[in-house]
Order: sequence, then C-alpha cells, then structure tokens
Amino acid sequence: MRRQLIEELRSKGISDERVLAAMNRVPRHLFLDSSFESFSYQDKAFPIGSGQTISQPYTVAFQTEQLALEKEMKILEVGTGSGYQAAVLLEMGCSVYSVERQIDLFKTTKKLLERLQYRPVISYGDGYKGMAAYAPFDRIIVTAAAKEVPQGLLSQLKVGGHMLIPVGPEGEEQRMLQLSRTKQSTIVQKDLGAFRFVPMLQDKQH
Ligand code: SAH
Repeated sequence: MRRQLIEELRSKGISDERVLAAMNRVPRHLFLDSSFESFSYQDKAFPIGSGQTISQPYTVAFQTEQLALEKEMKILEVGTGSGYQAAVLLEMGCSVYSVERQIDLFKTTKKLLERLQYRPVISYGDGYKGMAAYAPFDRIIVTAAAKEVPQGLLSQLKVGGHMLIPVGPEGEEQRMLQLSRTKQSTIVQKDLGAFRFVPMLQDKQH
C-alpha cells in the first residue's frame, strides 16, 4: 500500500527520488489513530486528536521537495503534530528541531517517535518563537497556516536558507510561500500555490 501511495505521489508531480524514497521508509499507519489505520496510505489528511490533523501525504511530499534539502542540514519544523513530517525529514538525513504548542499531542508524539527510534529534538512551546537555542537553521518548515509571515521565525533563518510557510486567512485556502534569505538583509518571496492547513495559533496550550 505504501508503494502504491508513492506511485500516486509521483503521478501527482513529485519527482525528487530522495523524497519518494524517504516517504517509502516511514510507516505512516503508525502515526494515525488505529481507527484510521486502513486509510493511512490514501493521499488524505486525517484527524490525530486534539482537533489537529496529519497532513496529506502530497502536502508533506511537496513541502519536503520544495525545501531542497541536503544531508546534515539543520531544519526547524513548526507544528510537530503526529510527527510524520519530522520522520520524513529525518529519513532525508537532516537534523530536525520540531516545536508543538499542544501539550497532549506533544507528549503522545514524543513517545511515538522514541518508540520508532526517530530522534528529532522536540519541544513544547509556541512556534512563533521558533527555537532560539538552536538557531540559525538551514531550512524552516511551517505546517500550520499563519495569517502573515512571522518575522521572528525568519530571523532564525541562515543566509542561503529557505522557509516554507502557508500564509492566508483561517478556514480558507492559503498560499504556500517560499521565503529565501539570499543575503543577511534580503528576503526573496515566491508563491508556490494554494494549500489548506489548520491555523497556526498564538502561545502554547496547556
Ligand atoms: N507536521 C504535522 C502536521 C500537523 S497539523 C504532521 O506531520 O502531522 C499542524 C500542527 O501545528 C498541529 O499539531 C498544531 O497544534 C500545531 N501548531 C499550531 N500553531 C502552532 C504554534 N504556534 N506553535 C507550534 N505548533 C503549532
């Protein structure tokens, strides 16, 4: 079923073999509630508890491909959620720093990732603040929709780095933006199309 999903992603335009191979190694069925297990290799988003969702595989593949990753890069992920995207980034050979604002989700996902021997640094906190202790990052991936580009996060991006973030109004489609720091003081913005994400909310939740 996983191989079939990979072929589906290929037919939808994902062409980076490293991304497809990484996704072929991650057991997505273990990142979903067991009641959704039989749907886990469909190209769909699903609820993961606490009102959140595991992103659609195509979206994970698209964001991962557009990040243009190299091995050993330091990546910041905002919105750990199920941990699936973090696992894919680790399979790409990167070091991953991921932040989640919902305590229950944070605890469950931390345990799951440990059990599967995925080793990102994960932190419970407000992703608008990034992870200053580990900054700067080669890449930043935001997996929840912001109303505008969070400048605090951009400040944690290295020169030559890219940030991918869906930006737009809550409950509607957002635009996937690629923000590249080409020089210390220059950010170049590119629109990569329409997507739909759960909102990026302020402050952590207990
Ligand atoms: N990358 C996840 C997608 C999860 S959905 C996966 O692969 O499953 C988005 C996640 O972003 C949710 O878990 C939500 O709680 C989290 N989130 C929303 N606002 C946030 C913020 N300000 N800081 C950290 N996480 C946030």
